[in-house]
Amino acid sequence: MCGIVAYLGHKPARPILVEGLKRLEYRGYDSAGVALLSDGAVALTKTAGRISALEAVLPAEDAGQNIGLGHTRWATHGAPTTTNAHPHVDCTGKIIVVHNGIIENYATLKTWLAGKGCTFASETDSEVVATLIGHFYANPAESGATAALEGAARFEWAVQQALREVVGTYGLAIVCTDLPHVLIGAKKGSPLILGVGENEYILASDAAAIVEHTTQAIYLSDDEIVTITPEGFRTKTRANVPVTKELQEVEFSLEQIELAGCDHYMQKEIAEQPTSLARTLQGRIDLQNGRVVLGGLQSHLRTLTRTRRIILAACGTAWHAGLVGEFLFEQLARIPAEVEYASELRYRNPVIEDGTIVIAISQSGETADTLAAIEQAKERGALVLGVVNVVGSTIARTTDAGVYLRVGPEIGVASTKAFTAQVAVLAMMAIELGRRRHIASEHAADLLTELTAIPSKIERILDQGPHIRSIAEANIERNNWLFLGRGFNYPVALEGALKLKEISYIHAEGLPAAEMKHGPIALITEGLPAVFIATRCAHYDKIIGNIEEVRSRGGRTIVVADEGDEHIRRYADHLITVPETVDALQPMLTVVPLQLLAYHAAVLRGHDVDKPRNLAKSVTVE
Ligand code: GLU
Repeated sequence: MCGIVAYLGHKPARPILVEGLKRLEYRGYDSAGVALLSDGAVALTKTAGRISALEAVLPAEDAGQNIGLGHTRWATHGAPTTTNAHPHVDCTGKIIVVHNGIIENYATLKTWLAGKGCTFASETDSEVVATLIGHFYANPAESGATAALEGAARFEWAVQQALREVVGTYGLAIVCTDLPHVLIGAKKGSPLILGVGENEYILASDAAAIVEHTTQAIYLSDDEIVTITPEGFRTKTRANVPVTKELQEVEFSLEQIELAGCDHYMQKEIAEQPTSLARTLQGRIDLQNGRVVLGGLQSHLRTLTRTRRIILAACGTAWHAGLVGEFLFEQLARIPAEVEYASELRYRNPVIEDGTIVIAISQSGETADTLAAIEQAKERGALVLGVVNVVGSTIARTTDAGVYLRVGPEIGVASTKAFTAQVAVLAMMAIELGRRRHIASEHAADLLTELTAIPSKIERILDQGPHIRSIAEANIERNNWLFLGRGFNYPVALEGALKLKEISYIHAEGLPAAEMKHGPIALITEGLPAVFIATRCAHYDKIIGNIEEVRSRGGRTIVVADEGDEHIRRYADHLITVPETVDALQPMLTVVPLQLLAYHAAVLRGHDVDKPRNLAKSVTVE
C-alpha cells in the first residue's frame, strides 16, 4: 500500500518521479505529491486524488532538479486531503519525507516534539517522522551526538536517531534541503528497493518504478538504511553497523507491466492465466517419474514428509487459495491442515507443536499481517515456507524456504493469476507429499498429468468471455448475489463473491452450498442471482438439490458445470461450462468464469476495475 519513488542522478527528476508514481499507482491512489530539491530550496506539489490530478497541478515549467521524492498514498492516518498528502516537510523546512507504513507511537512522539516547540501541519503519522529527524538534525549536541557531525554524516545520524524512537513500520525516502546531493532510504516492515543505474539511483516501493531505468537493484532488509550520493551508496543498520548488499537482477521487464492492448490489468491478468500457470508448473513436474521437483524445498523434503500438521497463513484471495490448500493436504497427503487468517493468527498466541509446518501465502510477499504471523511461527520453532510471487520480497527472504509463483507482476488490485498459481503450487506440494506418504505412484502420476493440462483447459473458459459478459449484463441491476459450492469448490465460491464485492461493489456472499439452509436461504427473493459451482464432483447430486432449493424460491441460477453435462441445463437460468478435471484441481478452472463475471460486472457498472474504491494492492499496513 502506498507507492514511494525517489530519484537522485543526472537527469531531471520530475518526469521520472511522475512516471514512477503512475507505475506504482496500483499501490494507493487517494492523494499524491512530489518534492524536488535544488540548492537549499524545495518545490513541493501535492494534491488529493490520483496521479493525473497531480500532473494537472504541477507547475508548467520543470526546473530540471536532479533529486526528488514522490508518493502515491493509501491513507491510514488522516483523511485523503492535500494537506495530508506526502511528501511531508518538518517545521524547520529542511527535512522532507515520503513514508509507507504506520508509525504506531506517533501520538506520543508528536506530544514530545510539540513540547520541544515543533509544529505540525497534517494529521498523519508520517509527518512525525519528518519532524523527529528534523529535531535531531537541528540539535545534534542536545541529542547526544559525540562527534561534531556535519553534512551527510549528520543527516544520516539524525535519521538513525529518529528511527530508534519509532515503533511501527516504514519504507522511507528522505532528503534535506542543506544537502541537495544526498538521498536516504530506510526500511522496516514495508518494502524498499534501490535501483542502481549509470550514475543514477531510484529508490522505490517496488521494481515497477525502476525497470524502465535499470534492472540492477538491491533489496533493503528491515532495519537497514541506505545513504545515496552521486558518488555511490552505502548501507548500514539503524545501529550504524555497515552492511554489504549484493546487486541483483530485477526479474521482470517493462512489457510485463504494460497493458498490452487490454483495457485493464485485471482483464490482461485473467487472460494471461494459461501462460502464467504454465510458467508456474514449468520444469517442476517430472511426468516420466511421476514426481514433483520444487527446487526451493529440496533440502527440507525429509521434514516435510514427516510433517504432523500444516498451518496455512494468508489474507484475502491468498486465504482462499490456502483453504483449497487445506483440502489438498488433507485429501492427498493425509496431513491435518488448517488455513488461518494471518491477521488473527498473529494475535492469538497460537499453539504450534513440534512437527508443524507453516506455509505463508502472499502474492506481493509484503503483506504485513502475514509477515507478523511468520514471526510468530518462527518464534515457536516452526519451519516456515513461503508461497510468494514477488522475487526478493520480504516474505521470500524471511521464510526458511519456499516456492515462487512465477506469474510475473500482478498489477490489478483484484488478484486473479496469483490465485490460480497459488493453488497450483499447493497442489504440487500436496501431490508430492501424498506420493511420499501414502498415495499410489500411479495416482500421483495421473494427478500430475491432469495438472499439466490445466493451462490449456483455461483457454476454453476464456473463449466464453462474451457469453459471461452477457450473463453479467442480464443481472447487473441486482445488488445481492450468492456464490455456492461444495468440497473443493467451496473456496471458489468464497473467491467468486470476494471478486464481485471488491471491484463491482455488489454485495455478495460465498457459502458452502449446504450451509445455505441454515440461514442465508432467507435472503432468496425473486430474481436473486445465485452462482452455483456444480461440476461433476463427489457432491454433484447434493448440489443439484441445493440448486432446486434456490429455484423453488425464485432465485436465478447461474451454474458453472462440466462441458457436456446436458443434465444440468434444466437447472440453470444461465450456464457456463468448464472442461472436466479431477475434483482436487477444479478450483483452477472453476474460478476463471467467476473472475470474468466480476470483471464484466465492474466494467458494466462503470467502475475503475484496476483501482477499486478504498482498496490497494500489497497490504503493507496492518
Ligand atoms: N501512514 C501514512 C499515511 O497515512 C502512510 C500510509 C501509506 O502507507 O500510504 O499517510
